[in-house]
Amino acid sequence: MSKVITAKEAEAILSQGGQPPAGSILTPSARDVFSRSDRQGGKSAPAPSKKPAGPIVPDNEFKWAPGSDPKTPADIEKYFRSPAIEALKVKICGIGRRIWEKDYVDGNGGNIVVRVGDNLALCTPTLISKGFMAPEEMCLIDLDGKQLAGERKRTSEAMTHLGIMKRQPKAKACVHAHPPHATAFAVAGVRPPTCMIPEAEVFLGEIGYAKYQTPGSPENAEEVGKIGVDHQAIIMENHGVIVWGKDVEDAYWKMENTDSYCKTVWIASQLGNGLHTFGADKLKDLIKLRRSLGMPDNRDGLRECELCDNADFRPGVVCQTPSKDAAEEKADPAVEAAVRQIADQILKQLAGK
Ligand SMILES: [Zn+2]
Repeated sequence: MSKVITAKEAEAILSQGGQPPAGSILTPSARDVFSRSDRQGGKSAPAPSKKPAGPIVPDNEFKWAPGSDPKTPADIEKYFRSPAIEALKVKICGIGRRIWEKDYVDGNGGNIVVRVGDNLALCTPTLISKGFMAPEEMCLIDLDGKQLAGERKRTSEAMTHLGIMKRQPKAKACVHAHPPHATAFAVAGVRPPTCMIPEAEVFLGEIGYAKYQTPGSPENAEEVGKIGVDHQAIIMENHGVIVWGKDVEDAYWKMENTDSYCKTVWIASQLGNGLHTFGADKLKDLIKLRRSLGMPDNRDGLRECELCDNADFRPGVVCQTPSKDAAEEKADPAVEAAVRQIADQILKQLAGK
């Protein structure tokens, strides 16, 4: 079993100039200790003695000093094994486990990429179950996908993630998976409708829709990358979903939001009462709120009538109670007698009479 490292143990490890043992799990406060130390050049830093002045909002974004990417193979290797990167590897494995447990991936499906430098990203390897990854299996690549460190070969789908990261600097982490409900929309070629759930409009924005291209190909990176500039969640036609966020947990939440939204809309479409929207006027408030949280939205230029236009949404199956005529037809004794007669004849023939 993996050893769990507490904040106290992390301080002790750092004071001796060490690193967390490979495969160990860090508690959130231990992770903070390592990240703080890494930001201060690897020196053990005492925890701040003063309590924050007021309530805080956690910030898990991986930050680096622009222009500070390691250049030599030795420096790259050292960075790849630095406490902050080791902590991030553990975090990526945790997110992998969560997408696997949620049934968002099967087999070796899905992948995760986190930006860790001007031209550096940490990513999952190819041909691995996301539910059973170890920190030492992660890979370091540049933004062109060239592998710089790590024993396992990087995922081929990293190129799609990098297509977004190169165009949208706010995209610090991407998660790709095949969650069944959203992937069903991708297979049916249906864009999820809008103006139905306020939280989805704020935290996801409009879900983007990328035309099918071969997974891992430059064409897919181009198609998804362009759509990723304005959309944090993208349904990839006949494939799955890719989401981005300011950190890997934030990106993962958008995967949950996307699949849950598609699931709810799908269930609602079966209830036979049509789908109700809250209207363009209210959507404008939500877009404003989304913008105030620093998230992109390109719906400013749209006219009011276009904001909640779900004309393309065509649920395939709608639950219908049988009409009175259909119910009577079913109970027609003449029809039932005819069916019985045919069935009797077939049975006699089968019995050789
Ligand atoms: Zn895929």
